[in-house]
Amino acid sequence: MYSLPDDQLYSIYDLLAHQQRFAMRALKGIRKGDHEKLKINLLIAFSWLMAIANRFHIDVDDAVWQRFPMLCSYCSKKPCACKKVKPTSRRKLVIIKNARPPTLAGFQEMFVAIYPPGRRTLSDAGIHLAEEMGEVSEAVHNFLGQHRSGQLQSIKQEIADFVSCVFGIANSARINIAAELAKMFSHNCHVCHKAPCVCSFSKVARLRT
Ligand SMILES: [Zn+2]
Ligand SMILES: [Zn+2]
Repeated sequence: MYSLPDDQLYSIYDLLAHQQRFAMRALKGIRKGDHEKLKINLLIAFSWLMAIANRFHIDVDDAVWQRFPMLCSYCSKKPCACKKVKPTSRRKLVIIKNARPPTLAGFQEMFVAIYPPGRRTLSDAGIHLAEEMGEVSEAVHNFLGQHRSGQLQSIKQEIADFVSCVFGIANSARINIAAELAKMFSHNCHVCHKAPCVCSFSKVARLRT
């Protein structure tokens, strides 16, 4: 639906700018208590993140599972015990092979188990998303500037962290990501309803959701 226009119209920095724009609009939804605004912009930001991952040929499913194998990526506990343990560095994660969720909905459930939404406010979940968005930017800038192989791995990890925060907000705001994405893209592009999408560069730039 989007790989053709993404490749033809957008540089990685363009993709990053859109991912950030819509993530910030989602945070505005949190500040205003506007659930619909939060939901649509969170889904759009998530979709632009997928475009970034696709550009780098990063398997997001795999990236998230390597980073969060049914465990917190810092304290290696489920539920997360970072507040109690206060890990100063990441614990080694033992990945249990058969525990990987087979679906997006399964991943969302997994994040409920690792990071129970009752333990944080929606605003805190939003602040965490902003932090991780900055880290995705840093990782992309570092790799594009220096092209070191480890830096590509950092992009993969930061994308996984950003995804965990998308689920964090969704779990706090009771948004079913898989169901909402299916609804949003049920008739191809959610704006022009074509596949591949035919939205122009300036139409996307003007999109106010
Ligand atoms: Zn933890
Ligand atoms: Zn379109």
